Amino acid sequence: MAFDRDIAELARMIDQARRAVVFTGAGISTESGIPDFRSPGGIWTRMAPIDFAEFLASEEARRETWKRRFAMEETFRAAQPNRGHRAVAELVRRGTVAAVITQNIDGLHQASGVAEDLVIELHGNTTYAHCLDCARRYELGALRVAFERDGAPPDCAACGGFVKTATISFGQAMPEDAMQRATELAQHCDLFIAIGSSLAVWPAAGFPMMAKDSGARLVIINREPTDQDDIADLVIHHDIGETLGPFVGN
Ligand SMILES: [Zn+2]
Repeated sequence: MAFDRDIAELARMIDQARRAVVFTGAGISTESGIPDFRSPGGIWTRMAPIDFAEFLASEEARRETWKRRFAMEETFRAAQPNRGHRAVAELVRRGTVAAVITQNIDGLHQASGVAEDLVIELHGNTTYAHCLDCARRYELGALRVAFERDGAPPDCAACGGFVKTATISFGQAMPEDAMQRATELAQHCDLFIAIGSSLAVWPAAGFPMMAKDSGARLVIINREPTDQDDIADLVIHHDIGETLGPFVGN
């Protein structure tokens, strides 16, 4: 069985790794019920995303952004970590995996037990908000009550700045700290495991290649073929939970 042979090879590579890094994309979270916005038929093929310049320029764009976010709240709040998240968390707990770099904004790696400082969020986090000017943090529950009462997008109580979920929008600069840490991890790991990403969204998709160029072995686990399958040492096109679950006995 090709799948069994691949799993055995993955087990060998994980055993041999002294410093592995996991990189995750939407595919690991769709198994928890979070839709992949970018996929064919995903939200962004039906409804153009609002980019950062529009958000800053227009109160109507800010209102629409928040309306869409609150419409997704039940989905985000109901989502629980799945077998894939739990397996990654266990590999971190064992010390095999040094850190998790993620394109996801749902906080499910933290919810599965990975320490916050070991999750590098390239596209930010949608489970809370902050002021774009003074960075003061806001929780979504209170913002939603005010939004539904007043119909106005939230401003910062401290400085009057615009409040936005802590995500990186289209047209918004990538977070410098996260990019720096991800670069260091990619350059200094000996095994890079890319999970549930089509590896097509840049600059995030540059990290597997960077790891490979720095001498690491590269594993890709994704249901569909990815843009970087041809440079990987091992490619597994399979369900993520089923692939990783057995490594940690779940
Ligand atoms: Zn502020």
